[in-house]
Amino acid sequence: LDEDDERLIQQLLPNLAVALNNALSHERLQRVAAIDALTGLVNRRFGLERLGEEFSRAVRSKEPLGVILFDIDHFKSVNDTYGHQAGDKVLRTVAEAARSVLRDGDTLLRYGGEEFLAVLPGAGVDDLDQLGERIRREVEACATVDQHHEIHVTVSLGAVAFPSTDVADIDDLVRHADAAMYVAKSAGRNRLTFAST
Ligand code: GH3
Ligand code: MG
Ligand code: MG
Repeated sequence: LDEDDERLIQQLLPNLAVALNNALSHERLQRVAAIDALTGLVNRRFGLERLGEEFSRAVRSKEPLGVILFDIDHFKSVNDTYGHQAGDKVLRTVAEAARSVLRDGDTLLRYGGEEFLAVLPGAGVDDLDQLGERIRREVEACATVDQHHEIHVTVSLGAVAFPSTDVADIDDLVRHADAAMYVAKSAGRNRLTFAST
């Protein structure tokens, strides 16, 4: 580098630093806006955006897309028995247990208070059956330690496979998953149920 080059770099450097800093803050903000603070999972708004993208991709590519909606069983009684903070801990345990089962490219979002949605690109009925069972078993197997208590919970899951199940859009997809989950609840909880086609 000659002197001119060096002078030029010195002039550009401050602006470059500002631009870089702005870009990083922007990225950080985007991440904060997409993440649920309690569980570290993708939040509902951004998760549903991902689902929309994956659904469009599945329609275009004719690749399967699976979703599994699941909800903690009798969670109200966890809060009532151990307190809201313990309940929050349980939510983190369940989120981590489910996340440990999923693959790269899958998205797990916190859909609501104690409801989660797994978006599983490429997953057909058999994959959904396996993944759903693994989530169910993993949650059942792990415990949340709070004070001197070990808290155990289970989840009920509703699965939908596209295109096996006839759905027009992601609202349809979630509605079917919700209906299937409701059947799992009614049938005794701690189980996986598929949407009827
Ligand atoms: P079911 O097996 O039918 O799902 O019963 P449930 O008790 O889990 O269902 P219900 O919808 O009656 O209760 C859900 C509870 O989840 C009520 C609400 O207080 C609790 N909840 C929702 N969000 C949070 C949260 O962020 N933290 C804690 N600790 N509790 C939450
Ligand atoms: Mg619920
Ligand atoms: Mg519940």
